[in-house]
Amino acid sequence: MTTFDTQAEKALRRETPTRDELLEVLTSTDDDLMDLVAAASRVRRRYFERRVKLNYLVNMKSGLCPEDCFYCSQRLGSQAEIVKYTWLKPDQTREAVSHGVKAGASRVCLVASGRGPTDRDVDRLAPAVAGIKDEYPGVEVCACLGLLSDGQADKLRDAGVDAYNHNLNTSEERYSDICTTHEFADRVETVEQAKHAGLSPCSGLIAGMKESDDDLIDALFALRELGPDSVPVNFLMPFDGTPLEGTWELTPQRCLRILAATRFVFPDVEVRLAGGREIHLRSLQPLALHIANSIFLGDYLTSEGQAGKDDLEMIVDAGFVVQGAGEPTLPGERHDLLKTRQRGAGTALPPNA
Ligand code: SF4
Repeated sequence: MTTFDTQAEKALRRETPTRDELLEVLTSTDDDLMDLVAAASRVRRRYFERRVKLNYLVNMKSGLCPEDCFYCSQRLGSQAEIVKYTWLKPDQTREAVSHGVKAGASRVCLVASGRGPTDRDVDRLAPAVAGIKDEYPGVEVCACLGLLSDGQADKLRDAGVDAYNHNLNTSEERYSDICTTHEFADRVETVEQAKHAGLSPCSGLIAGMKESDDDLIDALFALRELGPDSVPVNFLMPFDGTPLEGTWELTPQRCLRILAATRFVFPDVEVRLAGGREIHLRSLQPLALHIANSIFLGDYLTSEGQAGKDDLEMIVDAGFVVQGAGEPTLPGERHDLLKTRQRGAGTALPPNA
């Protein structure tokens, strides 16, 4: 039995790996790569079988952001040649959404650049969400609008939004190296607000920003503490005209190790292969499907992804199936975490106190 098999066994028991175990994953050699993928794949199959969830991004407001996140092409002062526009109208949003849903997406992610939404921005999302829910009742809607103020998460939930994405991106210690206009704690706070409002929390990371293995592990542990339902793993797309321009330090093998470490920390949580998969994993993308159970279909916020048709072919060729709309996001195996009360008031058994 390899050390990775032992980690897989722990993950199947939903035990959090130790820092040393994760370091072993992240520093493992290419000779051990297939053993690592096989071990992580066992965990993935146990909870998600052969399903791949498709998510579709709609950038509702692009560029022109006052924040300075160093990895972002939409940041203040970015010279990246991206398309910039202000809010899409509800019918433009529905039109964009329809392409993703028709291609098989069961979650649409409505994203807007900016530090965070105004109350008016939150209000303007409501008709778009209502239109999507009306037309595609089984499709989940995730909002990603930046830092939330008091009451905004409740308003989003009331508008029919199912989930909220806000990534931690990196470790707390390194946060000031990738952004100076807000803090790690602000991000944590927003994910907590979303969670407490009953929105499904989605929060992940960006790898390849000159972080150390320990930073990655710190970020994974911080995410685990937040208890997200889905964890997108982005690989830095180092746009020219941003501070991280020219930062090409990831290899396909490194990406697989990072995904495996993420799977061991989040055995029964949706791990999503997110931005940068095509340019960093390249021909090893199908192997990554054996670890992650979810991908973004088609294009990203400001860059183009591989053709949606190629994504679908890749999924089939690798022996996986697209998860249908209406199928639960969380695996059935997690339902045992929710137990109906059978003791205390109304029963013959003593209460739990
Ligand atoms: S990540 Fe979001 S908040 Fe940061 S610069 Fe980009 S759009 Fe603005």
